[in-house]
Formats: sequence, C-alpha cells, structure tokens
Amino acid sequence: MHPLTLTTLGTGAGRPSLHRSSSAVALDYQGEILLFDCGESTQMQIMKSTLRWGKLAAIFIGHLHGDHFNGLPGLLATLSMSDREAPLKLFGPEGITDILSVLRKHRVLYTNYPLEVFEIKKAGVLLETDHYYVETRFIDHIIPCWGYAFQEKDLPGVFDVKRAEALGVPHGPLRGKLVRGQEIQLEDGRKIRPEEVVGPKRSGRRVVYCLDSRPCSEAIQLSQKADCLIHEATFEACLGEEAHEWGHSTSQDAARLAKEAQVKKLILTHISQRYDQAKPLLEEAQVIFPNTLLAEDLKIFEV
Ligand SMILES: [Zn+2]
Ligand SMILES: [Zn+2]
Repeated sequence: MHPLTLTTLGTGAGRPSLHRSSSAVALDYQGEILLFDCGESTQMQIMKSTLRWGKLAAIFIGHLHGDHFNGLPGLLATLSMSDREAPLKLFGPEGITDILSVLRKHRVLYTNYPLEVFEIKKAGVLLETDHYYVETRFIDHIIPCWGYAFQEKDLPGVFDVKRAEALGVPHGPLRGKLVRGQEIQLEDGRKIRPEEVVGPKRSGRRVVYCLDSRPCSEAIQLSQKADCLIHEATFEACLGEEAHEWGHSTSQDAARLAKEAQVKKLILTHISQRYDQAKPLLEEAQVIFPNTLLAEDLKIFEV
C-alpha cells in the first residue's frame, strides 16, 4: 500500500491561538497533497511541517467562514512567489469565485499559475485520477457547507512470488499482465490464470473531512465505513444545545456519528479556543467510540 498521511495543520475553532491555528488538514498521497480548508496562517503551518509547497495539487474549502478561508489568499499569493507553474485546482462553495475576483481586482491577490476554481453546486465526485477520487456532500451548518471524502481506488491483489516461481512464470511483462488481471500463456503452452498467483483485490482507503456541521444524515452517509473520519468537535457534551444552535457538534456527537457510520478511526478537530486542555472532549468521545484520537497542530496521522 502507498503511504497515506494526514497532517492536521490547524485544529482550532473560530479565532486562531498560539496553540491551535485555524482549520486546515493536508492529505499526502502518492506525491500529491490535497488541502482541506485553509484557515489563517495555514501557509505558516505548512512551512513548519514536512510538507512541500510544490506537491500541492488541489484545495477544498468546506465553507466560507473566516476560520476555514482566511489563509487562502495568502497561500495562493505565496505560491506565485515560489514560481509555481503547475495548475492548481480549488473547490469551494458558491461565492468563492466572487471573493477571489474582488481580491484580484484590487490587487490584493495575484497568481501567475493557472488557478482553476470550481464552485460546488451539487453532491458528487469533484476530482478523479487513476488512483483516487474526491466526492462531496452538503452538510448541516449555519451557512452552505460541504463535507469531503477522499476515496482511494481498489488496489490489485498481492502477487504470490513463490507460487509464480513454482508455476515457472518468468520475471518481466508476463507477471505484470497477471497483476493487471490478464491470463497469460507460457512458452511451453501452459495457460496461467491471474487468480492462480494474485490474491483478491484490496479495498481502497477512505478519508472523510467533515466540518463544520451539526450531526446529520449526509455526514453519516459520507462517512460510511471510512478508514478515518476527521470531524469537528467544537464543544463538550454538556454544551450540546449551544453547539447545535451554532451549527456545530460536540465530541460525543462526532463519536456517535463515527459509531453509526462504522468508521475505523475518528480524529477530533476544530476545538473551541475556550479549552486549554481538550482531553476531556477526547475522553467523553472515547466512551462512545474508543478509537478516537485528538488532533493537535502539525500532528501526523497514518491511514
Ligand atoms: Zn469553523
Ligand atoms: Zn463555520
């Protein structure tokens, strides 16, 4: 399996603090970085991380609250100063094109590489490559908000080298054909079927990014059987009413959702800056969903 890592660049809700920057998560897969949200100081967080600017392939903004967006103009401008030439894809809610146009008009923003902006109109697949796709669903916040899922495509089964040797399959292109699911014929006329030497297909991994949102059915559907769900947990359980009023979740809401969607691992982020210590939020969630982890700025998670 190719390494798939998540770096939680910013993990705080609302304003940034010295301990928790505003929301941003980088997904690093096969030499490409996908960035989910771009709160204030995201570019500083990238500089502090092991990530490299040049690998940034696409940015996905969930909604247009400042703590998810304010870092974007600065990051886009810095990429210009870094002599980027490769195109960059940007996905976000309706209105993102207008905002960037105004910033360009007044020379706040200048980009010298192709920036392809897509405003999301409906749920579905936004981006697809040979190895993965990214899909979106409308989640339940106080302004239009999109949750995202990265889905790795299924991987071929494991090639059984010993079995291949025993059957006399030579090294080289014939083995490649078997891995790609094609029957081959050896020089002595024997035919070998792929299932004789290649194991069953391996399911691709799924990573879901879901913030900001009240608990909702769309988020459950998006998260179904995900290997990793990154979900907001702005407040502790006793502030549920306040959380829901402002379109947010508690850590226990996130845990219930993770349990219902049968995910493998839950990462809590978007922690209210009122909490110096977020451990109680984590412990409350673990009562419902034990495999819950707490995001910290610049922490790296393997999927
Ligand atoms: Zn937020
Ligand atoms: Zn918000």
